[in-house]
Amino acid sequence: MISVAVMGALGKMGRETLKAVSLDDELELIGGVDPKAKDMEVIDIGGKEINIYPSRNMLDKNLPAVIVDFTRADVATKNIFWALEKGIHAVVGTTAISEEDVVRIKDEASKGRANVIIAPNFAIGAILMMKFAEVASKYFSQCEIIELHHRGKLDAPSGTAILTAKRVEKNLLKNENDRFSVAIEGSRGGNIGAVRIHSVRLDGLVAHQEVIFGSTGQTLSIRHDTIDRSCFMPGVVIAVKKVGETPGLTIGLDNVLGI
Ligand code: NAD
Repeated sequence: MISVAVMGALGKMGRETLKAVSLDDELELIGGVDPKAKDMEVIDIGGKEINIYPSRNMLDKNLPAVIVDFTRADVATKNIFWALEKGIHAVVGTTAISEEDVVRIKDEASKGRANVIIAPNFAIGAILMMKFAEVASKYFSQCEIIELHHRGKLDAPSGTAILTAKRVEKNLLKNENDRFSVAIEGSRGGNIGAVRIHSVRLDGLVAHQEVIFGSTGQTLSIRHDTIDRSCFMPGVVIAVKKVGETPGLTIGLDNVLGI
């Protein structure tokens, strides 16, 4: 059995992770951490009482083998360093961790005390969308990405949109510079190289992304829709089971699955 604690346990993704971990026969859910639990909250997960602590230090008496983190970028970075120091593996879904922090995490994880997986998207469909977009990018000269998320999402553009743009941008055929004027600032979105990214935030959405390629007389759209947060859970569970065997820092579920 692999013992697991969930950081951000009372958030949207944290609650989903508590359920997924508790349902897996090879995993043992030992608790969660979330400052929303004022002293300590006991919640029912699948008929079992699980303690949610307001501070990670309260896990000290019963340390897990793995933490799963769905918090905020600044919090996640601190949680990863705490976990590595204690020899605990970390599976991190939290997005918008800065590139400087990723470098620091990589250095720390390379010391061999424990391993880290950071995956900005745990949905297999999203991993395939990025893979297919990377393949298509070799045959097109233009690409724009529209990512659409619920209004509670703190970062824009999404980590998945940034990663997709980076993977596509390096392959795009040479393109003449765009010529346009904008009447309203931001109308053409933000850009990574030649790839433009547009972020939509609306109630009613979960997580969606469309990658649109253009060339003379044709377009190609590759779209992924998340309609329920449960779609992320098979990827989270796989990462929890594999993190002990993936030395150092691994970025992206594709690298965990070998896609
Ligand atoms: P949320 O706001 O619902 O949950 C975040 C939780 O973290 C909150 O309950 C908050 O109280 C808690 N938190 C804050 N400080 C903390 C601390 N010091 N220790 C422990 N918990 C703390 O957000 P969410 O929708 O669950 O998303 C969380 C993160 O996961 C975001 O970065 C989001 O972009 C990312 N996300 C990733 C994936 C993926 O597949 N990798 C999918 C969806 C969301």
